[in-house]
Amino acid sequence: NLFGEAADGVVVSRFGMHADVEDSAGVAHRCNIRRTIRSLVTGDRVLWRPATSGNKGIVEAVHERTSVLTRPDFYDGVKPMAANIDQIIVVSAILPELSLNIIDRYLVASETLDIEPLLVLNKTDLLDDKARAFVDKQMDIYRNISYRVVMVSSRAKNGMDDLKAALTDRISIFAGQSGVGKSSLLNALLGFDKEEQVAILTNEVSDGSGLGQHTTTASRLYHFPDGGDVIDSPGVREFGLWHLEPEQITRGFVEFRAFLGDCKFRDCKHGSDPGCAIREAVEQGKINRSRFDNYHRILESMAQVKTRKNFPD
Ligand code: GDP
Ligand code: ZN
Repeated sequence: NLFGEAADGVVVSRFGMHADVEDSAGVAHRCNIRRTIRSLVTGDRVLWRPATSGNKGIVEAVHERTSVLTRPDFYDGVKPMAANIDQIIVVSAILPELSLNIIDRYLVASETLDIEPLLVLNKTDLLDDKARAFVDKQMDIYRNISYRVVMVSSRAKNGMDDLKAALTDRISIFAGQSGVGKSSLLNALLGFDKEEQVAILTNEVSDGSGLGQHTTTASRLYHFPDGGDVIDSPGVREFGLWHLEPEQITRGFVEFRAFLGDCKFRDCKHGSDPGCAIREAVEQGKINRSRFDNYHRILESMAQVKTRKNFPD
């Protein structure tokens, strides 16, 4: 009898033929995977059995997922990257630029996955009073449609307690444009030093194919010292920029939903169509114009992506 009793665990890393499974005491075990298991990713909750010697084991079964994050794949269309994510942290900052269009894209992707987003505006140390008032007004667009917003500075360590509180008891991912401070925030929150930072940034592991050169960039699960977990990888950080269908984009603008039934034509494109209830709501100030404009920009950019085989920008 090579294996001990079956227990529940969490996949903290998945590569090639193996998965690192953490037991309830937080100890990781390098596990083989039963051939019957078709899909296993970081964040999956599993039934596994420890080997009778050493920190090894075997994954026997995967528990049902509450959510799954996918990425485009040339052969399969989409491939899962991570499972059981509870919250998407959409990071933005005044530098390199505050792009409400990109925020809206991530929000649409979050709504499509039915995962709760949290908007984090980083680099508040760069704001003087005037700039702070401007940014706060921009964030009000989102507060007014019930999104949570946290203002932080990873450099000046402002607002970090609010962010830590929002991260406890759940699995989060950090997404957002390059340069907004995702690495800085994660390193600060995880208490990582310089050498560990390199690990999270490159995070490349051999896929075990024996081909040596061949590496895959895997997602990994990390624990925050003050509670909560994060799954991170370069792919995870950019998840929201993949292709979305027009219906998903429309549903993804949550404040449109109350008006959608009132458009004159069922196939209303919410552009210059006569009797469009969405456009009317914009004109009456019930829907924010920036959100309406970004809706059309996102639709247009997706139409372009589609002609390029559903691959990201
Ligand atoms: P990422 O690409 O989103 O992971 O962003 P990085 O963490 O690499 O940060 C991009 C740049 O922004 C770096 O030069 C950081 O030092 C800087 N940065 C990160 N957080 C802050 C902050 O709170 N304030 C300021 N002023 N700069 C920051
Ligand atoms: Zn309409």
